[in-house]
Amino acid sequence: MKNIWFDLSAIFVLTVILITYYTKYNAPILQNKVLVILVWMNYISTAMDMAAGIWDNNSFFASRHFPIWTSELVQYVYFIARNLTTVCYMLYILATLDIGRRSFKQWLAYAVPAGIDLLLLAVTPFTGAVFYLDELGRYHRGPMLPVLYLVAAYYLLLSVWLIFYYRKLIPRHRQIAFVLFIVIAFATVGIQGLWPTVLIEGFGTALCVLIIYLSIQRPEETMDGGTGFLNKKMFVNKIAVKLRQRLPITIGVVILEDFSVIEKYYGISEMEKLMKKIASYFKSLSKTVIYRIAEDKFCLVADSGESEALSARLEDILKRLTQPWHIQEYNVVVSAIGCLMRCPEDADTAEDIMELINMAEGNRNRNDSFMDMHGLDISVVKRQRTIETIVKGAVENGLLEVVYQPIYSIEKKCFTSAEALLRLNDPELGNISPAEFIPIAERNGSIIKLGQFVMDSVCHFVADNHVQQYGIEYVEVNLSTIELLQDNLVANVTDCIHKYGLRAEQINLEITESAMDTLPENVDDKLGRLISKGVTFSLDDYGTGYSNVSRMIALPLSIIKLDKSIVQEAFESDSMKVVLDNTVQMVRLLDKKVLAEGVETKEQAEYLIDQGCDYIQGFYYSKPLRQQAFLDMLIAGGAGIH
Ligand code: C2E
Ligand code: CA
Ligand code: CA
Repeated sequence: MKNIWFDLSAIFVLTVILITYYTKYNAPILQNKVLVILVWMNYISTAMDMAAGIWDNNSFFASRHFPIWTSELVQYVYFIARNLTTVCYMLYILATLDIGRRSFKQWLAYAVPAGIDLLLLAVTPFTGAVFYLDELGRYHRGPMLPVLYLVAAYYLLLSVWLIFYYRKLIPRHRQIAFVLFIVIAFATVGIQGLWPTVLIEGFGTALCVLIIYLSIQRPEETMDGGTGFLNKKMFVNKIAVKLRQRLPITIGVVILEDFSVIEKYYGISEMEKLMKKIASYFKSLSKTVIYRIAEDKFCLVADSGESEALSARLEDILKRLTQPWHIQEYNVVVSAIGCLMRCPEDADTAEDIMELINMAEGNRNRNDSFMDMHGLDISVVKRQRTIETIVKGAVENGLLEVVYQPIYSIEKKCFTSAEALLRLNDPELGNISPAEFIPIAERNGSIIKLGQFVMDSVCHFVADNHVQQYGIEYVEVNLSTIELLQDNLVANVTDCIHKYGLRAEQINLEITESAMDTLPENVDDKLGRLISKGVTFSLDDYGTGYSNVSRMIALPLSIIKLDKSIVQEAFESDSMKVVLDNTVQMVRLLDKKVLAEGVETKEQAEYLIDQGCDYIQGFYYSKPLRQQAFLDMLIAGGAGIH
């Protein structure tokens, strides 16, 4: 008696897989297509195996109700489907690797053994090569049957080899799933070979397909939850593989704009509906694989041969996006930009491509919804990355120096303070401007180390040279927002001051205006503790942000530094002059000192003095100076300043 219960269970498992597959959106990629064929082959072969089993168990009954040729047909279909299962399995591995074009020789290696299988099956009805049925409809193995087993083994071994050869491209859990497939396949074929009445092969492969379905086709790993599109990881994988193989590709990017504004305006649930509409539009574009690499960014990828088609598709999408979407009673237009990128010309690593996409957003021309990435320069991104590395090791490699820009006091008519400014000098890139490296250091966290370096060298310099004897009452040190957030800020600053035996009053910390609105309340407490020790604070770059005036008043800041843009624009436009004049008055009424930055001419200086500024800093008085030059200037008595 043949045991058909394994086959029945297999059918059950495969039915569940097919139902879940067909009831959701699947990206039209080769991997998915091969997977369904694999499941169907498995389904058919198991069903046929079971039918043949039933026939065998009750051949007399069966042959009376069904002619013998039906049994023969069942066997045929079984053999074809069964043998194609292993071929599909190997093709599935190839599809997940997505390694692109293969050579003719490779295709021969993939196709010839399957051809031998089909040839043997084609001649079997006349020769009984693989199997034959006797006059009672009983099944007998043919002399060439072992060849079919050999071919199946060949495909499984070829799969093992592919997994091994491309192991670097395959994540660990996928490797495990693939290998498990092969082990189970061999084991169950072996069992059925030894005990032909135990029809376990079909069940074995069904289990393997289930493993693949759960672990490789894992939706959370490959798909964007909201829309079912392939996710960023899949996108990066895809382009990385293409680039590694030096296959030129074209990438189309669609960036939806003002996403957060729409969300704020219509609410999250309407936004989700809108997104669903846009997603179903994208899905209706047949034969187009869409990747969603960020909430508002979608990508299309094509081999260079299809780049024309891709740019036409991109234009269609952008055209559709100029039309409104109807959600409930609203008509919403989601504006978008599209960009086209050719790789490797425009960028040659997955990382650079991602950076370029981010750059596109910032560099877009407001009047043009289509931009060609050719205009963007990836070298900017590369330079940033180089600087990132330089900044990380800058302290250890001795690339940093602190310079001092004297600050002139109108009341005392001499320099009474100076701002410490950091300089980075790399042997290869030369001088790198702080406007360039400080934001990078803030992003990668090195700013803490840099800040400590500045603090330490300022205290060291002030203590060693007793600059107070030349009238320098304090030195202003720039504090980054990141530093303000550190728990040990107060301790670090006071420790450093004590280490060099300074008074806290000799240090003034500058915090920028733009930081004011984003900082949490507990920063006020930190400032309060430092102020109670004697450290003073300046508000830097005043006039560049949208200042929260009430907070500025509440914080005990001693000096407000008017940003150089205000000072310079005031001499170009009368309305800015009104702003400048009134700002100076307001700050003075609030009982704080006003410092004007970026003063470059005598005319500017005189005007600002008339308006009642307390301090002036700028090239007109002095550029930032290296330590020795600064000291020399102080010793010389202010280099002839009024
Ligand atoms: P900031 O704090 O506003 O510094 C003033 C900047 O204006 C300095 O640029 C200075 O050289 C420049 N400057 C001074 N007088 C004039 C002038 O008359 N005309 C013009 N056009 N510019 C003038 P620098 O040294 O390149 O620094 C740029 C920015 O980098 C600084 O702006 C500050 O935000 C940041 N930075 C510099 N050193 C440090 C530091 O030690 N720590 C932190 N966190 N940031 C720093
Ligand atoms: Ca400053
Ligand atoms: Ca400033």
